[in-house]
Amino acid sequence: MDRVLARMAEGICPRCDAALGDFPARSRATEDRCIRVCGECGSHEGAHALAQPTETEPIADWPLDASEVRAQFQTVLRHLEHPTD
Ligand SMILES: [Zn+2]
Repeated sequence: MDRVLARMAEGICPRCDAALGDFPARSRATEDRCIRVCGECGSHEGAHALAQPTETEPIADWPLDASEVRAQFQTVLRHLEHPTD
């Protein structure tokens, strides 16, 4: 958790190690949503929450591999568009 806070303080997204940017999102990984992630991760988590609302991603796995994050996001989007596949 300290590592997550340290990254946030440096303006780095703790989820994917990219820059937080000017418009960070609030991560869904904690109940009070106190953790900031970059906009892309915010979108990923939003899509993930729609697809699998009962599954919360463990912060212990952060930082995630950025290309893996994108691949997962594509999978989730496909699932949302074609839920029966
Ligand atoms: Zn990120």
